[in-house]
Amino acid sequence: MHRDLQSDREAIREAIRKICSGFPDAYWRDADKAGAYPQAFVDALTASGYLAVLIPEEYGGAGLGIAEAGIILEEINRSPGNGLACHAQMYTMGTLLKHGSAEQKRRYLPDIAAGRLRLQAFAVTEPNAGSESTRIETAAVRKGDRYIVNGQKIFISRVAQSDLMLLLARTTPYDELEDKTEGLSVFLLDLRDIKGTFEFRPLDMMFNHHTNILFFENVEIPVENRIGEEGKGFRYIIDGWNAERILIASEAIGDGRWFVDKGAKYASERVVFGKPIGANQGVQFPLARAYAHVEAAACMRDVAAEKFDSGESCGAEANMAKLLSSEAAWEAANACLDAHGGYGFAREYDVERKFRETRLYMTAPINNNLVLAFLGQNVLGMPKSY
Ligand SMILES: Cc1cc2nc3c(=O)[nH]c(=O)nc-3n(C[C@H](O)[C@H](O)[C@H](O)COP(=O)(O)OP(=O)(O)OC[C@H]3O[C@@H](n4cnc5c(N)ncnc54)[C@H](O)[C@@H]3O)c2cc1C
Repeated sequence: MHRDLQSDREAIREAIRKICSGFPDAYWRDADKAGAYPQAFVDALTASGYLAVLIPEEYGGAGLGIAEAGIILEEINRSPGNGLACHAQMYTMGTLLKHGSAEQKRRYLPDIAAGRLRLQAFAVTEPNAGSESTRIETAAVRKGDRYIVNGQKIFISRVAQSDLMLLLARTTPYDELEDKTEGLSVFLLDLRDIKGTFEFRPLDMMFNHHTNILFFENVEIPVENRIGEEGKGFRYIIDGWNAERILIASEAIGDGRWFVDKGAKYASERVVFGKPIGANQGVQFPLARAYAHVEAAACMRDVAAEKFDSGESCGAEANMAKLLSSEAAWEAANACLDAHGGYGFAREYDVERKFRETRLYMTAPINNNLVLAFLGQNVLGMPKSY
């Protein structure tokens, strides 16, 4: 890697570490206990400009790549914090950037880059469709210069913390389609000015995450808020998946490194039977093994990010990075929890909180089964299961 690039990335790491040092364990522990959104942390990160790294300079962002964005999220998760609170502000705008009109980009991107507009709600999942996104039923029916939206979504995160929502909705009935990946369209819904009835209810989740069930009843969206062509929305969403996989992998790697460091430190200090527990191979080896797996996953993430940033296709690498890093983080979480014995379950050690948080990466935004299906079917050419 070029030396300047290397030192620029090190500078980003250092800057994020500095911001995160202002938000210690107790900040995240208290937010977790209260189920509170970590607003002060998100405000600090927004003010730093690091959430706008992927937005081109012409729109007020830093114009950097996925590699740099990944470093930012990795370092947040390597601290006591968690990037899930705000990672979507970084990449949800990608659909707008890639497929929006010049007018839409000019209208929204500078305000998103400056943090004046929060675009961190991305509504795809529905109760009746689950992982089969081409089966979503929420309908957007065109009436003159607007679309009328009716339907339901589930697990849609950060709605109360967003001004805009990226919405995937059906514009052609499923049965009328030959190609089932067509017929869906993407919209920018302005949550500050809703016409019609829009309700959202928070779901009570396993960790401090602000996700919701949504109900749309005759919600109006102006035609000019449709992104790209009608019926091509699923393609536009797929376009963003590799970036998302690489960023999610980065968060998992950050978690994995946090667990390995925390576990190794504790195992070196805790004395039982007259010696540090880490001297026992039953404690030491699981941490060493997890370390090897986290670092191997980081190598795959780096390969995926370099390919992505140089415009090469990277579906296989991005999916492998997400798979390997989420599994490695979970392995490290278990090794760290085991090393802590009973203390691993005590909130004040933060292990149980991070343990609950990191489990998500194996399930969302896409389950590892479907990542394996992608590798088996699209990369290795085996028969399809669906
Ligand atoms: C905390 C959290 C936040 C989320 N935030 C968002 C958000 O902001 N926006 C959004 O749109 N969605 C969001 N999601 C939804 C998430 O993307 C979905 O949960 C995920 O896509 C899986 O859908 P599902 O839960 O309906 O599982 P299902 O599709 O019902 O799958 C259940 C299980 O069956 C397995 N399975 C299904 N089909 C197959 C198959 N063919 N082969 C092998 N295994 C299979 C799956 O892998 C999984 O293990 C969030 C979810 C969570 C938990």
